[in-house]
Amino acid sequence: MNIHEHQAKSLLAEFGVPVPRGYPAFSVDEAMAAAEKLGGPVWVVKAQIHAGGRGKGGGVKVAKSLEEVRAEASRMLGMTLVTHQTGPKGRVVRRLYIEEGAAIAKEYYLSLLVDRKTSRVSVVASTEGGMDIEQVAHDTPHLIHTFSIDPATGVWPHHALLLTKALGLTGEAAKDARKLLPALYKAFTEKDMSLLEINPLIATSDGRLRVLDAKVGFDDNALFRHPDVVALRDLTEEDEKEIEASKHDLSYITLDGEIGCMVNGAGLAMATMDIIKLYGSEPANFLDVGGGASKEKVTAAFKIITADPNVKGILINIFGGIMRCDIIAEGVVEAVKEVGLQVPLVVRLEGTNVELGKKILGESGLNVIAADDLADGARKIVASVKGQPVPA
Ligand code: GDP
Ligand code: MN
Repeated sequence: MNIHEHQAKSLLAEFGVPVPRGYPAFSVDEAMAAAEKLGGPVWVVKAQIHAGGRGKGGGVKVAKSLEEVRAEASRMLGMTLVTHQTGPKGRVVRRLYIEEGAAIAKEYYLSLLVDRKTSRVSVVASTEGGMDIEQVAHDTPHLIHTFSIDPATGVWPHHALLLTKALGLTGEAAKDARKLLPALYKAFTEKDMSLLEINPLIATSDGRLRVLDAKVGFDDNALFRHPDVVALRDLTEEDEKEIEASKHDLSYITLDGEIGCMVNGAGLAMATMDIIKLYGSEPANFLDVGGGASKEKVTAAFKIITADPNVKGILINIFGGIMRCDIIAEGVVEAVKEVGLQVPLVVRLEGTNVELGKKILGESGLNVIAADDLADGARKIVASVKGQPVPA
């Protein structure tokens, strides 16, 4: 789960992290009230969407008067902001963050993330902040410094030294960094974050460190421990199909392709997506219905797939172990009864109760194309959506 920049900053502030003062605003009037409370003389009007790269897309503007705040707030609210992280469709800006302006002397990059390889928290730091860190990593990898913190010991003074060295900090800024790192680490671990990215962390003209942008992602599996974090969820930023799937406890992710997939097991779902690509098409989603899925869950999953206008064909690939093939068949028949079926459907069933599953589908009157194995299923669905003869 992700949150907005302004939410991330107020959460970090609770841990003593230095952030500029600011207020969220959902209307131009609220933006003006926020600007007056802050007092100026410089403000920054920032579009709040769950994506970075807003600066380049016109979603971050420095304002030097209240009139400018009004003009930028009016322009941004309701606009569709397109950045390299939103995809070509962009995101509608529904809220702003009005912040006091900061005098930037230097921009740095700093992030904390879970490193599964070392089972530690990795710290990534670079003097090349503000811009695309992916570009920096690609062009000048030696300017990116990484070290890890062992959760058994937490932050030690030498970690702070590694950070100040990596960023080349001295004086007050180095002192700030020595306080900043443990505060960030505490926020990261206590709130079960999976990512905490500060880009940029800045040194102000008077030599102090400030967090100017913050992107925070949380470990979904730990959200039950954090009702305060769940309360920050903004459903307007999430994919409707994914919200519906999460209500049914389905592992579902929307993709850009044309073939809807219903599979049991994450590994098999990945393999199914790969083989669809291999035969020349693209998957419209990742979906793992799980091991012990009920008929209701399967019905919900099938409805989510068919409701996607991009879906031109559906491939069901079930290797029934714990999952029973007859449950899948019943769920599919139930869903089609409710919402109909406008696209070709290829079904490959194997494993527990496979004969019963095939019988249920066969007697349902549904126009199902049966497949023998994974490759056969992929070949058949790709041919169907492309209007080519379906191989026997
Ligand atoms: P992003 O583009 O979505 O990552 O948004 P950021 O919050 O990182 O803002 C983009 C850029 O706007 C930063 O890298 C800064 O250069 C600039 N910026 C943001 N806040 C301020 C500010 O208070 N003063 C000045 N001068 N520039 C700012
Ligand atoms: Mn940024």
